Amino acid sequence: MNPYTGEVVGVAARATAAQALEVARAAGQFRCELAAYERADILSRCAELIERAAAEFARSICRESGLAYKDGTKEVSRAVAQLRFAAEEAKRITGEAISTDVTPTAGRRMAVAFREPVGTVLAITPFNRPLNQVVTKVAPAIAAGAGVIVKPSERTPLTATLFVRTLLGAGVPERMISLVTGDPITVGETLVTSGMVDMVTFTGSATVGRRIAQRAGMMRTAFELGDSGALIVLEDADLAAAAAEAAAGAFATSGQSCRGVKRILVQDTVADDFAALLRAAAERLRVGDPLDPATDIGTLIDERAAHAVDGRVREAVAGGARLLCGGRRAGAQYWPTVLDHVDRRCELVREETFGPCAPIVRVRDFEDALECVNDSRYGLQAGLFTQRLDYALHAARTLQVGTVVLNGGPQFESPNVPFGGVKDSGLGREGIRYAIQEMTRIKTLVL
Ligand code: NAD
Repeated sequence: MNPYTGEVVGVAARATAAQALEVARAAGQFRCELAAYERADILSRCAELIERAAAEFARSICRESGLAYKDGTKEVSRAVAQLRFAAEEAKRITGEAISTDVTPTAGRRMAVAFREPVGTVLAITPFNRPLNQVVTKVAPAIAAGAGVIVKPSERTPLTATLFVRTLLGAGVPERMISLVTGDPITVGETLVTSGMVDMVTFTGSATVGRRIAQRAGMMRTAFELGDSGALIVLEDADLAAAAAEAAAGAFATSGQSCRGVKRILVQDTVADDFAALLRAAAERLRVGDPLDPATDIGTLIDERAAHAVDGRVREAVAGGARLLCGGRRAGAQYWPTVLDHVDRRCELVREETFGPCAPIVRVRDFEDALECVNDSRYGLQAGLFTQRLDYALHAARTLQVGTVVLNGGPQFESPNVPFGGVKDSGLGREGIRYAIQEMTRIKTLVL
């Protein structure tokens, strides 16, 4: 359903558990006979097809998720870039030759360690980027020569279906890619516990991630979970740049991004000026019909999600926060919201708030900011605005996160850098090259 209009925009199959198992059985038959250059060609062709159908993909994203068309087009370009980069990486999967004469017993042998695909990869994906979350898993799997079963979010199955059809059109062998849609437990859990998949790569909430981890047993797993993404702004920062980055990170995709800005830790001495800049940036954004190309902010995934965000904003205000703008809801839509003097213990910032909110938490100094970031169950990415390189180095060593971005926000992404978290933010790394490592295993031949 389109969360903006309430219209039905498409239908997807609601697979039974037996059907899911049938898919897993068939997928298990796949053995990759494609050479690296052939896998690369398929990925490049798929990128080209998506680029040609960019408007159709962007519309599909908007209609089923309520994301703004601007968000949709950005997502399509990211997906194309990931596919192109995966095509290059498919040709760079190498191993190493190891001489064994390090002990008297192994003797003068040569060991060759090489990578082979892990087998069948089950990719379970969330709603917040209906195309890119799928591409981010499927592209490295194909590059690695692994078969994939895609289990997209039941709330956004249509774009995933369109993508899988496009892959088949680009020449992916039928057995290499499957798609199962339906109820999360009936389909998702059946596949996880089937004993017929070799790896599960999951992106979604920490709660579901834990549940899957408990059921996955000895299977290889990768988890990309939530975050309470922090942006630190110190008194020597370029405040205009920091405010622009904070707005971009907090409001893109209606604030539904795992690497979005979820709390802004601003040094007291500059917090008034920063808050004014951020408020002005938020007020410039246009909330409206997701399909209108001029709209900056579409809807959240559904009305319940918007209610939940509103509840946390109200609780923060009751706890002493000052609402500078926003705090308004209509159906599944939520207006970009800036709050100042937010208590660092309130749920709005302690938990992951999946909505367009930019809460400012005031901090005394750099050390106070670092402590505040680390006092969280999450740790995905964090940003730091300062002119001081010694602070950047200290933050990189001290912060319990996967990535620290200097003079940028936690929203930073590029297909060639490792991406992933610590603590409840996950296990394993994405980024095409690193995901290929997770989706392959090392085998050794001793000569
Ligand atoms: P979710 O956890 O509700 O669902 C994610 C996927 O898991 C869906 O496909 C769902 O159908 C499936 N699922 C649910 N229960 C299952 C079960 N018992 N067994 C198997 N599969 C099951 O997450 P969501 O609401 O779709 O997405 C939002 C969450 O995803 C946020 O927490 C966000 O931070 C996180 N996320 C993380 C990243 C990252 O890379 N770290 C990226 C995007 C989103």
